[in-house]
Amino acid sequence: MPLADIINTFELTQDQFQGIVTGFKQEYEQGLNIAEAKGLATMIPSYVTRLPTGQEKGTFLALDLGGSTLRVCAVRLLGDGQVQVDEIKRSIAMTDPLRTGETTAFFDWMVDAIDSLIKEYKIDGGGVSDPLAMGVSWSFPVNQTSVSDGKILRMGKGFELKGIEGQDLKTLFTDAFRRKNVNVKVTALINDTVGVLVAHAYSDPNARIGFIYGTGTNAAYPEQVSKMAKLDPIYKEQHQEQEMLVNTEIDIFGSDAYLPLNRFDRLLDANHSQPDFQLYEKMMSGAYLGELVRLAALELVQENALFDGHLPLEFKEMYSFETAQLSDLESRADDSIDSRLRHLQSTFTFESPASSPSYQPTEQDLATMTELCRAVATRGAKLAAAAVASLIEKQQQQQHLLEDQPIIIGINGSTFELYPQMPERMLASLSDWFGPVTANRIRLDVARDGAGIGGALIAMLYADDNDAIEQ
Ligand code: BGC
Ligand code: MG
Repeated sequence: MPLADIINTFELTQDQFQGIVTGFKQEYEQGLNIAEAKGLATMIPSYVTRLPTGQEKGTFLALDLGGSTLRVCAVRLLGDGQVQVDEIKRSIAMTDPLRTGETTAFFDWMVDAIDSLIKEYKIDGGGVSDPLAMGVSWSFPVNQTSVSDGKILRMGKGFELKGIEGQDLKTLFTDAFRRKNVNVKVTALINDTVGVLVAHAYSDPNARIGFIYGTGTNAAYPEQVSKMAKLDPIYKEQHQEQEMLVNTEIDIFGSDAYLPLNRFDRLLDANHSQPDFQLYEKMMSGAYLGELVRLAALELVQENALFDGHLPLEFKEMYSFETAQLSDLESRADDSIDSRLRHLQSTFTFESPASSPSYQPTEQDLATMTELCRAVATRGAKLAAAAVASLIEKQQQQQHLLEDQPIIIGINGSTFELYPQMPERMLASLSDWFGPVTANRIRLDVARDGAGIGGALIAMLYADDNDAIEQ
């Protein structure tokens, strides 16, 4: 049974789940204990040691660069945990030459968007002597040395900007602001997960985990400063009693030793422009679920177990089948068979010799595709749950999660927010792991606009510190 065999390769047993949770917990400790981040860094300090109280007020700019979207916003903090956001969005298609072009061209393009935002929404401030403060939320790894400085590490998600690796992120912005004559200064740089946690803490100060499950995946949490070997000894001395948010870069975690990679995971990785990088993320994030389905479907077509051996045009190119299409197929589960079949038929195109009619997908094809999508996405949910479980356990060990209190996780990302039943699938997996009593305390809260609002909050919390440094 080719389908049953494939579904089997996407199962995740409790033993495998255990292996991943244990592996993640070991990597947290290793990453914390490495003094110098060489090459791929994990457990990156954010230098954010304060969380908002919900009372903060003012208008701050935020820029949120994600894998497929740039958002620039003016965030008005209204002081009662509420915010108002004016924003401009620009999408960056996978094939957009901006992704692989000159670094300066890319920064000019981002600064143009900020300039448009300031003009369109007539944002005050930004006079000659008084630049607007902006927080940058960067959905890629940065090796931070302060709350506003850090060197860009290898960017994933199809970004291969020329010569960007190793450059200072704030300097790249400062230079672009100067070139474009825009009066803004970067006062904070944060990873998007840090942004999500900070933003969620603004509305719920008990949140202790920030998680992203979108195009990519990653998590942040507060760690004791004393446990972080990467920090400068003097800094540690001054902040020893405090906690700092850590960007885990859990997306990079994992190896063959404990990630149950199946043949499709290996094939995806082998064909990738950055093989061996972000193996965990490649098994579960939105950038890859569609490709995993496509690779498995190709095998079924070859074995005549799908589309009667006909290969649809939509499966011919790498990454041509997207997670949004998987999501679309699964979201129709309650529709009538007829309407689902019509949808499937309109999704796929089959070439045929001029004289014969082209292939029409059948009910069997519909059942096969639906089952395949469900298996791949459900494994994704379980893998995401394994990361959340490992972070909960880590904090339980540090006795930060008190018995009977809710365990609050701020989450954001398209896969979590848009994929049908993703929260339910993750909660079911967490319930299998922790049992229903603990699982009932876990709240997976959507932290919408998290990264942007978090960026603005950190820009605000740290704006004065920057002035002090510059004087
Ligand atoms: C990046 C992280 C980011 C995550 C979620 C990953 O690919 O390496 O820095 O937080 O995606 O956007
Ligand atoms: Mg994002």
